[in-house]
Amino acid sequence: MARYTDPVCRQCRRIGEKLFLKGERCFSPRCAVEKRKRPPGDHIPRRRRSSDWALQLREKQKARFSYGVLERQFRMYFEAAKESQGVTGEVLLQLLERRLDNTVYRLSFAESRRQGRQLVTHGHFTVNGRKVNIPSFRVGEGDVIAWRRVSDSKPDFVEALTAGIPRRPVPSWLALDVDNLKGEVVSMPDPTEIDSGVDPRLIVEFYSR
Ligand code: SF4
Repeated sequence: MARYTDPVCRQCRRIGEKLFLKGERCFSPRCAVEKRKRPPGDHIPRRRRSSDWALQLREKQKARFSYGVLERQFRMYFEAAKESQGVTGEVLLQLLERRLDNTVYRLSFAESRRQGRQLVTHGHFTVNGRKVNIPSFRVGEGDVIAWRRVSDSKPDFVEALTAGIPRRPVPSWLALDVDNLKGEVVSMPDPTEIDSGVDPRLIVEFYSR
């Protein structure tokens, strides 16, 4: 399973804004965007005027980095969205939101999507009672995502990871059951509610050139 292995803070610096890829660290003074304002490798201050293409590319990269998706897979999401009945940009965001690693993050079981991905890969979750360790697994309406509690043999581990849940507001398309450490997909994500900070229209324009 291919994944991005370079330091993720470089991605934020490349985009020029915080993408919150590292959980708590992103809110601390140790954040690389706070410490170094310039993009990686850019040592001389330059005045840049962004072309339309550069803005579109930036938006696409921002979405890709935020959801932790490589170019080829992102393109596949775009093609699937394009072939759907709905508005391409909105469907694209929905498809990204429905990834299992993102759902685990949205249910507030993980500090970041990156941690969500790691927890899923390590087999800590079930979907409808069956173990799923594929971060890109697409959840659908009615699916129940639960901690496997394999981890009952490692209670400290579970306790540490689940402390303070929910860490943030859970979106309306998910219902969180804190006591049983599980969540249900009650509807499809509403594109107007997705706080990805990404303008999907620019992504559609980027791929439509
Ligand atoms: Fe981005 Fe978080 Fe790293 Fe800051 S700490 S640069 S927000 S990943």
